[in-house]
Amino acid sequence: MKTAIYPGSFDPVTYGHLDIIRRAASVFDELIVSVLDNVRKTPLFSVDERVKILKKATMDIPNVKIESFSGLLVDYARTRDVHVIVRGLRAITDFEYELQNAQTNRLLSRGELDTMFFTTSLEYAYLSSTTVREIASFGGDITGCVPDFVGEMICHKFGIQHERCRNEQ
Ligand code: ADP
Repeated sequence: MKTAIYPGSFDPVTYGHLDIIRRAASVFDELIVSVLDNVRKTPLFSVDERVKILKKATMDIPNVKIESFSGLLVDYARTRDVHVIVRGLRAITDFEYELQNAQTNRLLSRGELDTMFFTTSLEYAYLSSTTVREIASFGGDITGCVPDFVGEMICHKFGIQHERCRNEQ
């Protein structure tokens, strides 16, 4: 069985992530989407919340499993006996960072862990969790960026009425 891990912060998961998840799940027998518990970042959603959100957002994709991890990705992948990492590429700015991570993971795993990249669907090329958080924090419209139930949870975090996060006209 070919399994891959798609690691990330997913704070919050966006339609861009979900597009990568759907496409990767159609290539691999099993896709483990794993939320990185990064102690150096102050997230909007806790790891548990992000796991729950991802489970709900992907419940129609049977071969997707949601987990979380902390520490080195190579160590986590080894515990799951997985040899492929999935990442998404939006623009040239992602490339340098992703290339560095992919090469580091190959080195640390002594060539056992490879990274496969899915290029963004053009309609999501602009989309990032940071942008979504910023728009929502000012009460902007995040319809089209995240699933509705995620939008509601984000607005709740910022203490904004959900309608304010969506188009008011
Ligand atoms: P990070 O793990 O760097 O905090 P994210 O959790 O936001 O980043 O993203 C996880 C992965 O998904 C990264 O490979 C990122 O490039 C990719 N990604 C994020 N948004 C999109 C998008 N709109 N289209 C394609 N890939 C994306």
